[in-house]
Amino acid sequence: MPVIDEILIATGAVLFAALVYAAIVSWRENESRAVRRLLGLAVLAPLPFLVVVAMPSQAGAYTGAGLLGVTLLTAVALLVPTRSKHRAERDTPTTRVDERDIMFSRARLEPGSERFEAYYREKPDRRGPDDGFRALPGLMRKGAAFYDPFMFAAADSSFATIAELHAMVDGPVAPEKEAPDPAAISEFIMGWTVKLGAGEVGITELREYHKYTTVGRGEQYGQPVRLDHKYAIALTVEMAKEMIDRAPRGPTVMESAQQYMTPGAIAVQVAQFIRNLGYPARAHIDGNYRVICPLVARDAGLGEIGRMGLLMTPRLGPRVRLGVVTTDLPLLADRREPEHSVLDFCSMCEKCADVCPSQAIPRGLRSEIDGALRWRIDPEACFTYWCKIGTDCARCVSVCPYSHPDNLMHNTVRLAIRNSAVARRVALAADDYLYGRRPPPAEVEGWMEVESESVATRQPVE
Ligand code: SF4
Ligand code: SF4
Repeated sequence: MPVIDEILIATGAVLFAALVYAAIVSWRENESRAVRRLLGLAVLAPLPFLVVVAMPSQAGAYTGAGLLGVTLLTAVALLVPTRSKHRAERDTPTTRVDERDIMFSRARLEPGSERFEAYYREKPDRRGPDDGFRALPGLMRKGAAFYDPFMFAAADSSFATIAELHAMVDGPVAPEKEAPDPAAISEFIMGWTVKLGAGEVGITELREYHKYTTVGRGEQYGQPVRLDHKYAIALTVEMAKEMIDRAPRGPTVMESAQQYMTPGAIAVQVAQFIRNLGYPARAHIDGNYRVICPLVARDAGLGEIGRMGLLMTPRLGPRVRLGVVTTDLPLLADRREPEHSVLDFCSMCEKCADVCPSQAIPRGLRSEIDGALRWRIDPEACFTYWCKIGTDCARCVSVCPYSHPDNLMHNTVRLAIRNSAVARRVALAADDYLYGRRPPPAEVEGWMEVESESVATRQPVE
Protein backbone atom coordinates (compact mmCIF):
# COMPACT_ATOMS: atom_id res chain seq x y z
CA MET A 1 0.00 0.00 0.00
CA PRO A 2 1.39 3.47 -0.90
CA VAL A 3 2.57 5.59 2.04
CA ILE A 4 0.01 8.29 1.26
CA ASP A 5 -2.83 5.77 1.61
CA GLU A 6 -1.47 4.64 4.96
CA ILE A 7 -1.37 8.27 6.17
CA LEU A 8 -4.93 8.83 4.91
CA ILE A 9 -6.22 5.75 6.71
CA ALA A 10 -4.37 6.70 9.90
CA THR A 11 -5.79 10.25 9.79
CA GLY A 12 -9.32 8.93 9.26
CA ALA A 13 -8.85 6.48 12.14
CA VAL A 14 -7.58 9.23 14.49
CA LEU A 15 -10.58 11.42 13.58
CA PHE A 16 -12.96 8.52 14.18
CA ALA A 17 -11.38 7.67 17.53
CA ALA A 18 -11.37 11.29 18.71
CA LEU A 19 -15.04 11.77 17.84
CA VAL A 20 -16.09 8.48 19.46
CA TYR A 21 -14.11 9.47 22.56
CA ALA A 22 -15.90 12.84 22.61
CA ALA A 23 -19.25 11.04 22.25
CA ILE A 24 -18.46 8.77 25.21
CA VAL A 25 -17.45 11.77 27.36
CA SER A 26 -20.65 13.57 26.32
CA TRP A 27 -22.73 10.50 27.18
CA ARG A 28 -21.19 10.51 30.65
CA GLU A 29 -22.09 14.20 30.89
CA ASN A 30 -25.74 13.44 29.94
CA GLU A 31 -25.46 15.58 26.81
CA SER A 32 -27.66 13.47 24.53
CA ARG A 33 -27.76 15.92 21.62
CA ALA A 34 -23.95 16.12 21.62
CA VAL A 35 -23.71 12.30 21.69
CA ARG A 36 -25.97 11.93 18.63
CA ARG A 37 -24.16 14.60 16.67
CA LEU A 38 -20.67 13.39 17.58
CA LEU A 39 -21.53 9.82 16.56
CA GLY A 40 -22.89 11.16 13.26
CA LEU A 41 -19.64 13.06 12.74
CA ALA A 42 -17.62 9.98 13.68
CA VAL A 43 -19.24 8.15 10.77
CA LEU A 44 -19.03 11.03 8.28
CA ALA A 45 -15.68 12.66 9.02
CA PRO A 46 -13.40 9.70 8.07
CA LEU A 47 -15.39 8.99 4.86
CA PRO A 48 -13.48 11.42 2.58
CA PHE A 49 -10.20 9.75 3.59
CA LEU A 50 -11.52 6.26 2.81
CA VAL A 51 -13.07 7.37 -0.50
CA VAL A 52 -9.74 8.85 -1.60
CA VAL A 53 -7.92 5.62 -0.71
CA ALA A 54 -10.39 3.72 -2.93
CA MET A 55 -9.82 6.03 -5.93
CA PRO A 56 -7.65 4.97 -8.91
CA SER A 57 -3.98 5.44 -8.13
CA GLN A 58 -3.10 8.65 -10.07
CA ALA A 59 -6.28 10.63 -9.20
CA GLY A 60 -6.23 9.20 -5.65
CA ALA A 61 -2.64 10.34 -5.06
CA TYR A 62 -3.38 13.95 -6.07
CA THR A 63 -6.70 14.13 -4.18
CA GLY A 64 -5.12 12.44 -1.16
CA ALA A 65 -2.27 14.95 -1.09
CA GLY A 66 -4.79 17.81 -1.36
CA LEU A 67 -6.93 16.38 1.44
CA LEU A 68 -3.93 15.90 3.73
CA GLY A 69 -2.79 19.45 2.95
CA VAL A 70 -6.20 20.87 3.92
CA THR A 71 -6.23 18.76 7.12
CA LEU A 72 -2.74 19.95 8.02
CA LEU A 73 -3.60 23.61 7.36
CA THR A 74 -6.74 23.31 9.49
CA ALA A 75 -4.75 21.80 12.36
CA VAL A 76 -2.13 24.56 12.10
CA ALA A 77 -4.82 27.28 12.06
CA LEU A 78 -6.38 25.79 15.19
CA LEU A 79 -3.14 25.43 17.10
CA VAL A 80 -0.87 28.30 16.14
CA PRO A 81 -1.06 31.14 18.69
CA THR A 82 -2.61 34.36 17.40
CA ARG A 83 -3.01 37.73 19.08
CA SER A 84 -6.41 38.50 20.59
CA LYS A 85 -8.21 41.44 19.02
CA HIS A 86 -10.06 42.36 22.23
CA ARG A 87 -7.65 42.61 25.11
CA ALA A 88 -7.64 42.91 28.88
CA GLU A 89 -6.54 46.52 28.82
CA ARG A 90 -7.90 49.80 30.21
CA ASP A 91 -9.99 47.77 32.64
CA THR A 92 -9.06 49.43 35.96
CA PRO A 93 -12.02 51.32 37.45
CA THR A 94 -11.35 54.91 38.44
CA THR A 95 -14.32 55.13 40.82
CA ARG A 96 -15.57 53.05 43.72
CA VAL A 97 -18.98 51.45 44.26
CA ASP A 98 -21.39 52.30 47.08
CA GLU A 99 -22.71 48.97 48.37
CA ARG A 100 -26.08 50.61 49.15
CA ASP A 101 -26.67 50.79 45.37
CA ILE A 102 -26.44 47.07 44.70
CA MET A 103 -29.68 45.09 44.35
CA PHE A 104 -29.11 42.91 47.44
CA SER A 105 -28.88 46.05 49.55
CA ARG A 106 -31.89 47.75 47.96
CA ALA A 107 -33.95 44.57 48.35
CA ARG A 108 -33.42 44.73 52.12
CA LEU A 109 -34.84 48.23 52.51
CA GLU A 110 -38.06 48.04 54.53
CA PRO A 111 -40.80 50.27 53.05
CA GLY A 112 -41.66 53.01 55.50
CA SER A 113 -38.36 52.74 57.40
CA GLU A 114 -36.07 55.74 57.81
CA ARG A 115 -33.38 53.97 55.77
CA PHE A 116 -35.85 53.35 52.94
CA GLU A 117 -37.03 56.97 52.81
CA ALA A 118 -33.47 58.33 53.01
CA TYR A 119 -32.24 56.10 50.17
CA TYR A 120 -35.00 57.00 47.72
CA ARG A 121 -34.82 60.67 48.66
CA GLU A 122 -31.22 60.55 47.44
CA LYS A 123 -31.88 58.19 44.47
CA PRO A 124 -35.47 58.91 43.37
CA ASP A 125 -34.93 57.36 39.92
CA ARG A 126 -34.49 53.92 41.55
CA ARG A 127 -37.86 54.00 43.32
CA GLY A 128 -39.91 52.90 40.28
CA PRO A 129 -37.84 49.84 39.30
CA ASP A 130 -37.45 48.83 42.94
CA ASP A 131 -41.18 49.07 43.63
CA GLY A 132 -41.52 46.78 40.60
CA PHE A 133 -39.55 43.91 42.15
CA ARG A 134 -41.10 44.53 45.60
CA ALA A 135 -44.55 43.86 44.13
CA LEU A 136 -43.42 40.35 43.11
CA PRO A 137 -43.24 37.22 45.32
CA GLY A 138 -39.46 37.48 45.79
CA LEU A 139 -36.44 35.22 46.13
CA MET A 140 -37.28 31.82 47.62
CA ARG A 141 -40.84 32.94 48.36
CA LYS A 142 -44.16 31.15 48.02
CA GLY A 143 -46.03 32.27 44.93
CA ALA A 144 -42.89 32.55 42.80
CA ALA A 145 -43.08 30.75 39.45
CA PHE A 146 -40.59 28.03 40.41
CA TYR A 147 -41.64 27.79 44.03
CA ASP A 148 -40.61 24.48 45.51
CA PRO A 149 -40.98 24.08 49.27
CA PHE A 150 -38.10 21.63 49.62
CA MET A 151 -35.56 23.27 47.35
CA PHE A 152 -36.27 26.74 48.67
CA ALA A 153 -36.04 25.51 52.25
CA ALA A 154 -32.75 23.77 51.40
CA ALA A 155 -31.31 26.95 49.90
CA ASP A 156 -32.55 28.96 52.84
CA SER A 157 -30.78 26.59 55.23
CA SER A 158 -27.47 27.41 53.51
CA PHE A 159 -28.14 31.14 53.71
CA ALA A 160 -29.07 30.80 57.40
CA THR A 161 -25.77 29.00 58.03
CA ILE A 162 -23.85 31.75 56.22
CA ALA A 163 -25.61 34.35 58.38
CA GLU A 164 -24.25 32.57 61.46
CA LEU A 165 -20.73 32.94 60.04
CA HIS A 166 -21.07 36.74 59.90
CA ALA A 167 -20.07 37.00 63.56
CA MET A 168 -16.77 35.27 62.71
CA VAL A 169 -15.54 37.31 59.74
CA ASP A 170 -13.32 39.38 62.03
CA GLY A 171 -12.05 39.06 65.58
CA PRO A 172 -9.26 39.62 68.08
CA VAL A 173 -5.69 39.25 66.90
CA ALA A 174 -3.26 37.07 68.87
CA PRO A 175 -0.88 39.28 70.90
CA GLU A 176 2.23 37.40 69.81
CA LYS A 177 3.26 37.94 66.23
CA GLU A 178 4.91 35.26 64.12
CA ALA A 179 7.26 36.49 61.41
CA PRO A 180 6.92 34.00 58.57
CA ASP A 181 8.69 34.33 55.25
CA PRO A 182 6.08 35.89 52.86
CA ALA A 183 6.74 33.34 50.11
CA ALA A 184 6.55 30.37 52.47
CA ILE A 185 3.38 31.49 54.27
CA SER A 186 1.73 32.38 50.95
CA GLU A 187 2.43 28.88 49.68
CA PHE A 188 1.13 27.38 52.92
CA ILE A 189 -2.10 29.41 52.81
CA MET A 190 -2.72 28.61 49.16
CA GLY A 191 -2.09 24.89 49.65
CA TRP A 192 -4.21 24.72 52.77
CA THR A 193 -7.06 26.70 51.19
CA VAL A 194 -7.19 24.17 48.36
CA LYS A 195 -7.13 21.39 50.94
CA LEU A 196 -10.13 23.07 52.62
CA GLY A 197 -12.09 22.78 49.37
CA ALA A 198 -11.17 25.74 47.17
CA GLY A 199 -10.64 25.19 43.44
CA GLU A 200 -8.16 27.98 42.90
CA VAL A 201 -6.49 30.57 45.12
CA GLY A 202 -4.64 33.79 44.33
CA ILE A 203 -3.15 36.73 46.19
CA THR A 204 -3.20 40.40 45.21
CA GLU A 205 -2.37 43.70 46.80
CA LEU A 206 -5.60 45.32 47.97
CA ARG A 207 -6.46 48.35 45.86
CA GLU A 208 -8.84 51.25 46.45
CA TYR A 209 -11.27 50.23 43.69
CA HIS A 210 -11.62 46.78 45.26
CA LYS A 211 -13.39 48.35 48.24
CA TYR A 212 -16.96 49.56 48.50
CA THR A 213 -17.20 53.18 49.65
CA THR A 214 -20.09 52.64 52.07
CA VAL A 215 -21.52 49.60 53.83
CA GLY A 216 -24.86 48.55 52.31
CA ARG A 217 -25.89 45.60 54.46
CA GLY A 218 -26.05 44.71 58.13
CA GLU A 219 -25.64 46.73 61.29
CA GLN A 220 -23.00 49.05 59.84
CA TYR A 221 -25.30 50.15 57.00
CA GLY A 222 -24.40 53.65 55.85
CA GLN A 223 -20.96 53.74 57.47
CA PRO A 224 -17.87 54.36 55.34
CA VAL A 225 -15.88 51.22 54.57
CA ARG A 226 -12.71 51.23 56.65
CA LEU A 227 -10.34 48.61 55.40
CA ASP A 228 -6.64 49.39 55.25
CA HIS A 229 -5.31 45.86 54.79
CA LYS A 230 -2.46 45.46 52.33
CA TYR A 231 -3.29 42.10 50.77
CA ALA A 232 -6.29 40.08 49.63
CA ILE A 233 -6.51 36.32 49.19
CA ALA A 234 -9.21 35.29 46.69
CA LEU A 235 -10.55 31.76 46.31
CA THR A 236 -13.02 30.01 44.03
CA VAL A 237 -15.31 27.06 44.66
CA GLU A 238 -17.00 25.12 41.87
CA MET A 239 -20.78 25.10 41.50
CA ALA A 240 -21.93 21.59 40.52
CA LYS A 241 -22.77 21.32 36.84
CA GLU A 242 -25.69 18.93 37.35
CA MET A 243 -27.37 21.54 39.58
CA ILE A 244 -26.64 24.59 37.43
CA ASP A 245 -27.82 22.71 34.32
CA ARG A 246 -31.33 22.83 35.86
CA ALA A 247 -31.28 26.65 35.88
CA PRO A 248 -33.50 28.56 36.34
CA ARG A 249 -35.36 26.03 38.53
CA GLY A 250 -34.83 25.26 42.22
CA PRO A 251 -31.59 23.24 42.03
CA THR A 252 -29.74 26.33 40.88
CA VAL A 253 -30.57 28.38 43.98
CA MET A 254 -29.77 25.37 46.19
CA GLU A 255 -26.34 25.12 44.61
CA SER A 256 -25.79 28.83 44.57
CA ALA A 257 -26.54 29.09 48.29
CA GLN A 258 -24.40 26.06 49.08
CA GLN A 259 -21.48 27.52 47.19
CA TYR A 260 -21.80 30.87 48.91
CA MET A 261 -21.49 28.94 52.15
CA THR A 262 -18.45 26.83 51.26
CA PRO A 263 -16.07 29.68 50.31
CA GLY A 264 -17.53 31.67 53.21
CA ALA A 265 -16.57 28.97 55.69
CA ILE A 266 -13.10 28.61 54.14
CA ALA A 267 -12.54 32.38 54.21
CA VAL A 268 -13.62 32.59 57.85
CA GLN A 269 -11.24 29.77 58.77
CA VAL A 270 -8.29 31.28 56.88
CA ALA A 271 -8.91 34.72 58.45
CA GLN A 272 -8.95 33.14 61.92
CA PHE A 273 -5.70 31.31 61.11
CA ILE A 274 -4.02 34.59 60.15
CA ARG A 275 -5.26 36.31 63.30
CA ASN A 276 -3.80 33.40 65.28
CA LEU A 277 -0.42 34.36 63.75
CA GLY A 278 -0.78 37.87 65.16
CA TYR A 279 -2.01 39.79 62.08
CA PRO A 280 -5.38 41.43 61.37
CA ALA A 281 -7.52 39.57 58.84
CA ARG A 282 -11.13 39.79 57.70
CA ALA A 283 -13.21 37.34 55.70
CA HIS A 284 -15.57 38.72 53.06
CA ILE A 285 -18.52 36.38 52.64
CA ASP A 286 -22.07 36.46 51.33
CA GLY A 287 -24.05 39.31 52.86
CA ASN A 288 -20.98 40.71 54.60
CA TYR A 289 -18.59 42.08 52.02
CA ARG A 290 -16.42 45.16 52.15
CA VAL A 291 -14.80 44.35 48.79
CA ILE A 292 -16.03 43.51 45.29
CA CYS A 293 -14.95 39.88 45.05
CA PRO A 294 -14.80 39.47 41.23
CA LEU A 295 -12.42 42.43 40.91
CA VAL A 296 -10.20 41.12 43.70
CA ALA A 297 -10.18 37.64 42.18
CA ARG A 298 -9.36 39.00 38.74
CA ASP A 299 -6.40 40.98 40.08
CA ALA A 300 -5.28 37.90 42.02
CA GLY A 301 -4.91 36.16 38.65
CA LEU A 302 -7.95 33.89 38.84
CA GLY A 303 -9.66 34.99 35.62
CA GLU A 304 -11.28 37.86 33.73
CA ILE A 305 -14.64 39.62 34.05
CA GLY A 306 -16.85 38.45 31.20
CA ARG A 307 -19.97 39.68 29.44
CA MET A 308 -22.30 38.70 32.29
CA GLY A 309 -20.19 40.66 34.80
CA LEU A 310 -18.96 37.54 36.59
CA LEU A 311 -15.45 36.21 37.02
CA MET A 312 -14.61 33.84 34.17
CA THR A 313 -12.06 31.30 35.39
CA PRO A 314 -9.92 29.38 32.89
CA ARG A 315 -11.12 25.93 34.05
CA LEU A 316 -14.79 26.48 34.95
CA GLY A 317 -15.74 29.82 33.42
CA PRO A 318 -18.40 31.56 35.53
CA ARG A 319 -19.48 28.32 37.28
CA VAL A 320 -17.76 29.31 40.53
CA ARG A 321 -18.46 31.22 43.71
CA LEU A 322 -15.88 33.41 45.42
CA GLY A 323 -14.56 34.15 48.88
CA VAL A 324 -11.98 36.74 49.93
CA VAL A 325 -9.76 37.32 52.95
CA THR A 326 -8.04 40.67 53.43
CA THR A 327 -5.07 40.97 55.76
CA ASP A 328 -1.88 42.76 56.78
CA LEU A 329 0.09 39.52 56.97
CA PRO A 330 3.02 40.08 54.57
CA LEU A 331 2.33 37.87 51.55
CA LEU A 332 3.72 37.33 48.09
CA ALA A 333 1.18 38.72 45.62
CA ASP A 334 0.56 36.88 42.34
CA ARG A 335 1.12 38.84 39.18
CA ARG A 336 -2.02 39.20 37.12
CA GLU A 337 -1.56 37.47 33.77
CA PRO A 338 -4.34 39.01 31.65
CA GLU A 339 -6.26 36.33 29.77
CA HIS A 340 -7.09 38.25 26.62
CA SER A 341 -8.66 35.25 24.90
CA VAL A 342 -11.63 35.24 27.31
CA LEU A 343 -12.52 38.81 26.38
CA ASP A 344 -12.02 38.01 22.71
CA PHE A 345 -14.33 35.02 23.00
CA CYS A 346 -16.98 36.95 24.98
CA SER A 347 -16.86 39.74 22.39
CA MET A 348 -18.23 37.42 19.70
CA CYS A 349 -20.15 34.78 21.70
CA GLU A 350 -23.24 36.47 23.24
CA LYS A 351 -24.78 33.09 24.10
CA CYS A 352 -25.66 34.30 27.61
CA ALA A 353 -27.36 37.37 26.14
CA ASP A 354 -29.37 35.12 23.81
CA VAL A 355 -30.82 33.01 26.63
CA CYS A 356 -31.27 35.69 29.30
CA PRO A 357 -35.01 35.75 30.04
CA SER A 358 -34.89 39.39 31.16
CA GLN A 359 -32.60 40.70 28.39
CA ALA A 360 -30.34 41.99 31.15
CA ILE A 361 -27.07 41.06 29.44
CA PRO A 362 -25.64 43.59 26.98
CA ARG A 363 -24.67 42.77 23.42
CA GLY A 364 -21.81 44.18 21.41
CA LEU A 365 -18.38 45.18 22.64
CA ARG A 366 -17.31 46.50 26.04
CA SER A 367 -17.78 50.19 26.66
CA GLU A 368 -16.14 52.55 29.12
CA ILE A 369 -17.98 52.52 32.47
CA ASP A 370 -16.51 54.13 35.60
CA GLY A 371 -13.26 54.60 33.71
CA ALA A 372 -12.90 50.93 32.74
CA LEU A 373 -13.71 48.97 29.61
CA ARG A 374 -16.35 46.41 30.60
CA TRP A 375 -19.82 45.02 30.06
CA ARG A 376 -22.52 45.92 32.56
CA ILE A 377 -25.69 43.91 32.95
CA ASP A 378 -29.01 45.58 33.79
CA PRO A 379 -29.21 44.67 37.50
CA GLU A 380 -32.83 45.78 37.93
CA ALA A 381 -34.04 43.60 35.05
CA CYS A 382 -32.09 40.58 36.30
CA PHE A 383 -33.19 40.92 39.93
CA THR A 384 -36.83 41.57 39.00
CA TYR A 385 -36.80 38.27 37.09
CA TRP A 386 -35.39 36.51 40.16
CA CYS A 387 -38.27 37.91 42.24
CA LYS A 388 -40.75 36.52 39.70
CA ILE A 389 -39.34 33.01 39.62
CA GLY A 390 -38.00 32.72 43.18
CA THR A 391 -34.50 31.51 42.25
CA ASP A 392 -31.34 33.33 41.21
CA CYS A 393 -31.85 32.05 37.64
CA ALA A 394 -28.27 31.44 36.40
CA ARG A 395 -29.39 30.52 32.87
CA CYS A 396 -26.46 32.62 31.66
CA VAL A 397 -23.99 30.58 33.73
CA SER A 398 -25.47 27.25 32.64
CA VAL A 399 -25.16 27.88 28.88
CA CYS A 400 -21.74 29.56 28.88
CA PRO A 401 -19.30 27.52 26.75
CA TYR A 402 -16.70 27.98 29.50
CA SER A 403 -18.97 26.26 32.04
CA HIS A 404 -18.38 22.75 30.66
CA PRO A 405 -16.78 20.25 33.06
CA ASP A 406 -13.11 20.38 33.89
CA ASN A 407 -11.92 17.31 31.95
CA LEU A 408 -9.48 16.37 29.20
CA MET A 409 -11.92 16.91 26.32
CA HIS A 410 -13.11 20.36 27.38
CA ASN A 411 -9.66 21.41 28.57
CA THR A 412 -8.23 20.58 25.13
CA VAL A 413 -10.85 22.89 23.62
CA ARG A 414 -10.04 25.56 26.25
CA LEU A 415 -6.36 25.31 25.36
CA ALA A 416 -7.11 25.84 21.68
CA ILE A 417 -9.46 28.75 22.51
CA ARG A 418 -6.71 30.34 24.56
CA ASN A 419 -4.20 30.03 21.74
CA SER A 420 -5.91 30.76 18.51
CA ALA A 421 -8.52 33.21 17.24
CA VAL A 422 -9.56 30.65 14.60
CA ALA A 423 -10.08 28.04 17.32
CA ARG A 424 -12.32 30.48 19.21
CA ARG A 425 -14.61 30.82 16.19
CA VAL A 426 -14.63 27.07 15.52
CA ALA A 427 -15.24 26.28 19.21
CA LEU A 428 -18.20 28.63 19.40
CA ALA A 429 -19.75 27.15 16.23
CA ALA A 430 -19.12 23.64 17.58
CA ASP A 431 -20.67 24.53 20.94
CA ASP A 432 -23.81 25.80 19.20
CA TYR A 433 -23.94 22.70 16.97
CA LEU A 434 -23.41 20.17 19.75
CA TYR A 435 -25.33 21.75 22.65
CA GLY A 436 -27.61 24.25 20.88
CA ARG A 437 -27.57 28.02 20.71
CA ARG A 438 -30.28 28.09 23.38
CA PRO A 439 -29.88 24.76 25.16
CA PRO A 440 -33.03 23.83 27.09
CA PRO A 441 -32.65 23.44 30.87
CA ALA A 442 -32.09 19.86 32.05
CA GLU A 443 -35.09 18.14 33.66
CA VAL A 444 -35.40 18.24 37.44
CA GLU A 445 -35.32 14.53 38.21
CA GLY A 446 -34.01 11.84 40.55
CA TRP A 447 -33.59 12.86 44.18
CA MET A 448 -34.24 16.51 43.35
CA GLU A 449 -37.79 15.79 42.21
CA VAL A 450 -40.14 15.37 45.15
CA GLU A 451 -43.88 15.45 44.55
CA SER A 452 -44.78 18.12 47.07
CA GLU A 453 -48.52 17.48 46.68
CA SER A 454 -48.21 13.81 47.62
CA VAL A 455 -45.96 14.75 50.51
CA ALA A 456 -48.49 17.34 51.67
CA THR A 457 -51.25 14.74 51.80
CA ARG A 458 -49.07 12.14 53.50
CA GLN A 459 -50.04 11.40 57.09
CA PRO A 460 -47.43 12.32 59.66
CA VAL A 461 -45.67 9.42 61.29
CA GLU A 462 -46.96 8.96 64.83
S1 SF4 B 1 -21.87 32.87 27.32
FE1 SF4 B 1 -20.34 33.63 25.89
S2 SF4 B 1 -20.51 35.85 25.99
FE2 SF4 B 1 -21.52 35.04 27.78
S3 SF4 B 1 -19.94 35.03 29.37
FE3 SF4 B 1 -19.92 33.00 28.44
S4 SF4 B 1 -18.38 33.15 26.82
FE4 SF4 B 1 -18.90 35.24 27.41
S1 SF4 C 1 -29.21 35.40 36.05
FE1 SF4 C 1 -30.84 35.07 34.51
S2 SF4 C 1 -31.87 37.05 34.37
FE2 SF4 C 1 -29.90 37.43 35.38
S3 SF4 C 1 -28.47 37.95 33.75
FE3 SF4 C 1 -28.30 35.73 34.04
S4 SF4 C 1 -29.76 34.85 32.57
FE4 SF4 C 1 -30.27 37.01 32.79
